[in-house]
Amino acid sequence: MSDETISCSACNRKTPKNMYNKCVYCGAPYPQKHWFSDEQKAYKIAQLKEENEAARQRLEESRNKEKEQEEKRRRRDSSY
Ligand SMILES: [Zn+2]
Repeated sequence: MSDETISCSACNRKTPKNMYNKCVYCGAPYPQKHWFSDEQKAYKIAQLKEENEAARQRLEESRNKEKEQEEKRRRRDSSY
């Protein structure tokens, strides 16, 4: 899927096509020919979910790593 941009007729800015079918700057609705189809919407939502999940996993991993290092540090400190 391409990251299509649309020239907003209300504010004249180039705005990315999005599933809300609105200009991200001024909120003016896009002409219907630029609307997401249900298929594209479903695809986008699935993609966002995947990205969220990946981000959550990365965060968890880095937290676990921090915890591990913190524990190692503590163990080392307490051995003195
Ligand atoms: Zn606009």
